[in-house]
Amino acid sequence: QSFFGPKRLQCRSYSTMVSYHSTVEAQRKYFKTGATIPLEGRKAVLKKIKEITIKHGNDIADAVHKDLKRDREYTKAFDVAAVIGECDYFLANLDEWAKPIPVSTAGSPVDPDAEAFIVKDPQGVVLLISPWNYPVFLCFWPLVPIIAAGNTCIIKPSELAPACSELITKMVKENFDPNLITVVEGGVPETTALLEERYDHIMYTGAPHVAKIIMAAAAKNLTPVTLELGGKSPVIVEPDADIQKTAERLVANKWVNVGQTCITPDYVLTRDELKPKLAAAIEAELTKKYGDKPKDSPLYSRIINERHFDRLVSTLEKSEGKVLHKHGDDHHDRDDKFIAPHVLDVHDKDAFMQDEIFGPFLPLLSVNSFDEAIDFINNGEKPLASYIFTKDEGKIAKFLSHTTAGGVTINDVQKHASVKGLPFGGVGNSGMGRYNGKYGFDTFTHEKAVYKRPL
Ligand code: NAD
Repeated sequence: QSFFGPKRLQCRSYSTMVSYHSTVEAQRKYFKTGATIPLEGRKAVLKKIKEITIKHGNDIADAVHKDLKRDREYTKAFDVAAVIGECDYFLANLDEWAKPIPVSTAGSPVDPDAEAFIVKDPQGVVLLISPWNYPVFLCFWPLVPIIAAGNTCIIKPSELAPACSELITKMVKENFDPNLITVVEGGVPETTALLEERYDHIMYTGAPHVAKIIMAAAAKNLTPVTLELGGKSPVIVEPDADIQKTAERLVANKWVNVGQTCITPDYVLTRDELKPKLAAAIEAELTKKYGDKPKDSPLYSRIINERHFDRLVSTLEKSEGKVLHKHGDDHHDRDDKFIAPHVLDVHDKDAFMQDEIFGPFLPLLSVNSFDEAIDFINNGEKPLASYIFTKDEGKIAKFLSHTTAGGVTINDVQKHASVKGLPFGGVGNSGMGRYNGKYGFDTFTHEKAVYKRPL
């Protein structure tokens, strides 16, 4: 609502002062020279992305620590390693993926001596808008397919992670021709001004309500969009699940980055009688991972800012749920942006069930049957990810055929996103389009249909 009120006017007047027209046009001019077409040139840029990610591995870990107090070793093992891995994967496969694909003309009403094939065209200038939760990773990971496909890129990092935004700008500025890759720092006014320009593709990662603004701006120029969004990712825990292993795998992921991960488990659907056992097993796992005082654990991150801290605390205050477990004695602390891990017993209308939580709360909801859990998921928005813990192959098959989600992990959480051959993306309110490996190459490529007849 506020965006369409005074805030929008403020954005509009700002965008008349700041224009990124020359930035976009410089990249378009460069693209039109054909400089991004040779594969060797694209590979040289991928090698450079890899090289600077390795060189600045510690700086990336420090910047993420500064913005989110996230464990430096985790950032190196996940964010840094994943960007390097994506560069290597593209370097090994780009020749193959970029090749024209011959297509048979048999059965088509055309000259039998003609050939048909698909040519992989770059799209042009790509605008990449990223969020704050994995601030460096979500700029460089999508940058790899954008560049590999032969495009230029304007990166807009999140203003909510300022140390990372500054580092990304420095890394790009020192290493790349701005006609190929450049960074525009800033918040809503700068993004609004960027969206006044025409692109050949816009990739946005962030919240669904902003994605609607992005898509409306893209529509003015019929610009294709890839929207990587979020939502409430459910977990079903069936009575036959090994509760110990379930708790272990939930805790290994849920409280990383204090739950500020797009595919983090948002809530659990289980039977009433399983809740105390599951909460106790989660408590034991939390102790193993974070000790008795998560506030003092180097592995426990912080909420990104006061606004998100207030949003989370106010949801806790509005919640009618019963706290089954709060980990550690420390109260939430606004100055430190600390909130302890909580496991709650809630009903379906609870404050925690209204929006994506994106924080350290795990609500458990009762369902009387597996089918009730399926119906519950289908009554909500299509999630970015969904999870089930069960040994029953029949239930797994029904879960896969009767619910939808961007991706699914069975008997664990989040792991589908780490598999190179799988697409990563949402469905419905959790996004559109996909990337990760070849899916990213294809997303930022135009597949041109060609028919060639002998003369
Ligand atoms: P954010 O506030 O950093 O916003 C993301 C980007 O949008 C920023 O660059 C910001 O400047 C810009 N932006 C914000 N408001 C705008 C406006 N009114 N007009 C134009 N631009 C605007 O991040 P966020 O949205 O809080 O990110 C969290 C959300 O992102 C969660 O829903 C999460 O699930 C989702 N997410 C999804 C993925 C994925 O890969 N699917 C990954 C990470 C996060």
